[in-house]
Amino acid sequence: MSDKIQIDRHILTEEIHQWQQLENVIRQVAYLYHFQEVRPAMLQSKSELERIYSQASRFFSKHSLDNVLLQICGDCNIALSPENTMPLLLSDMTEDCRKEPQRIFHIGPVFRRYHNVKQNIRRFHCNFNIIGHESVITVIQLIRIGIRLCDRLGFKNCYAEISSFGCDICRQNYIEALDKYFSHNPEAFCWYEPCKELPIDAPASPDYICNNCHAELDYIKKVLTNLMTRFEINPRLHRALYYQNGPVFNICTKEKGKKIVLGSGGRFDRIAKYCDNTYIPAVAITFDQEHLIGLLRKNGFFRAEHHQHSTMLCSESRDLDLTMLQIAQELHDNELPTILELNSNTLSDLRKKAIDKGVSLIIYLEEAALRTGKALIINLVKDHEDYIPLSDILDTVIRLKRQIDVL
Ligand SMILES: [Zn+2]
Repeated sequence: MSDKIQIDRHILTEEIHQWQQLENVIRQVAYLYHFQEVRPAMLQSKSELERIYSQASRFFSKHSLDNVLLQICGDCNIALSPENTMPLLLSDMTEDCRKEPQRIFHIGPVFRRYHNVKQNIRRFHCNFNIIGHESVITVIQLIRIGIRLCDRLGFKNCYAEISSFGCDICRQNYIEALDKYFSHNPEAFCWYEPCKELPIDAPASPDYICNNCHAELDYIKKVLTNLMTRFEINPRLHRALYYQNGPVFNICTKEKGKKIVLGSGGRFDRIAKYCDNTYIPAVAITFDQEHLIGLLRKNGFFRAEHHQHSTMLCSESRDLDLTMLQIAQELHDNELPTILELNSNTLSDLRKKAIDKGVSLIIYLEEAALRTGKALIINLVKDHEDYIPLSDILDTVIRLKRQIDVL
């Protein structure tokens, strides 16, 4: 199996500022709702994951999880984590949850073999979780968080799609109907989160859930209406991992009349029980960051990278490197960023590189000028160059930084 895996070697260099902008907004929203950031483990026990998933739905045992989990090596029992929920419920944090509900969020990679996205086994997910409380308020809070995040990202007319996977009494009926449906229509099942559409002939959850679950859904509808939160009922919400129970939801937007699912969530109160026989109520919402970034790029959300002052240092010959390093050290002592350019052969080459890197100032050391205690300084913001005494370099750089900070 492992020979079929194509390793993703992309390290996001060019677009990293876009990732940072998205993550900044996620962190601002997390701060607003008092969520604490965590870094769960990326490695999990493979047999434990298999046991837990197969308890959640018979469909998982029929469709071998070998097709989904990424085992580290043939003989070991370790797999890369396919999601962020399980590591939290298997962590030492669960003790705290019993005393006080924990509001936590996480940004990081998850690993699955996506059959319909063959070259990408690593996805970046962001999750908000409330663990340790079963109140329906926690569901409503996560719906609100999801909508606020998507609003802040500039998505228009965001709304929630809601449904219910049922309680202890009625859930099994619905999951069995889904298991049966997927065993006849395996192509309808999808591990890739943002697809999230079940065919119209798939079982609809409202046909299977009990009166109490219908009443809970009605309560959510009432509260969302009062909070002026737009929603629709979607009787066929798709989930890659059918271990959820109770209310489930998507956060959506529409573009040219077409629905786009931005994030998805729901309760998963049973998972901790599958882990160690302890009941821990929990609810989460998940966003696929690559999916969001693709949409945000299309919408023109990202600003150009913030222009920051930096100085490029270059010397005519290696004999002048010590002087170059001394100047760099003096600038660093004053919190001024520098780039040491080691490869440029000509001044025009140097200028071009500096412009490409968004540098505002070049300091070029030449033998002849150094003998008179001077260096060539090229101000790329004002397109001006001059020879100045070495002792004036620091003041000149500080002055230029102030000018740029004002721009
Ligand atoms: Zn029920």
